[in-house]
Amino acid sequence: MTRKKTFAVIGLGRFGRSVLDELIKLDNEVLAIDMDESLVNDVANIASHTIICDSTDEEALKNIGIKNIDHVVVAIGENLQASILTSLILKELNVNEITVKAHNEYHERVLRKIGITDIIHPEQDMGKRIARRIASRFISESIELSKEFSLVELRASGRIINKSLLELQLRNRYKINVVAIKRNDQIIIPDAEESIKVNDLLIIVGDNKSLEKFEKHLLA
Ligand code: ATP
Repeated sequence: MTRKKTFAVIGLGRFGRSVLDELIKLDNEVLAIDMDESLVNDVANIASHTIICDSTDEEALKNIGIKNIDHVVVAIGENLQASILTSLILKELNVNEITVKAHNEYHERVLRKIGITDIIHPEQDMGKRIARRIASRFISESIELSKEFSLVELRASGRIINKSLLELQLRNRYKINVVAIKRNDQIIIPDAEESIKVNDLLIIVGDNKSLEKFEKHLLA
């Protein structure tokens, strides 16, 4: 039997806490670490293990056996020095996978210099997603896959209603791909004959310009 992947979350602010909660919900083993005793106590019944310690203390991290954890998430936001030093120690201890929440661009540059590749900006990412959702009449969800490509959830309307994917030729004409349709809370993986209905939510992958064109030409 393969061993289950193990995780640690360092920093139990709002972001770290939600990463922890979700990992636990997904049935993972997670070690929760913070220097704030009350935050650690708050998760004592949820996390698989908890430790109160300053993660910039290399000896403390060694004693915990952090290098045996498969994936460590550094969710220290505002204290850049603590975040950078913690990340450096994790790197030097050869932790296999490290994800670090960056506070700003300067923070990200330093993290890159010490060899961290998985750097996340949750506030900016969420801000972009929300802006896209409220700026469009049709987009109800949007995930940036790269600078150019997105996966969006669009409400079907306009000229596409009652047309099949074969008739619409979206891949040829708009370079976009309908990967799924949400209809009455059910997910359909459509074949070419599938006809689009009012209230369908289309899950589409494409480059941003093509998605915009599709929205303007066919939905509005
Ligand atoms: P939020 O996710 O709530 O927006 P934030 O980005 O403001 O949080 P901080 O409040 O700076 O992040 O830090 C998150 C947590 O990290 C705090 O609970 C703090 O106690 C913890 N933390 C900060 N420095 C260290 C450290 N050196 N060792 C362990 N935990 C730390």
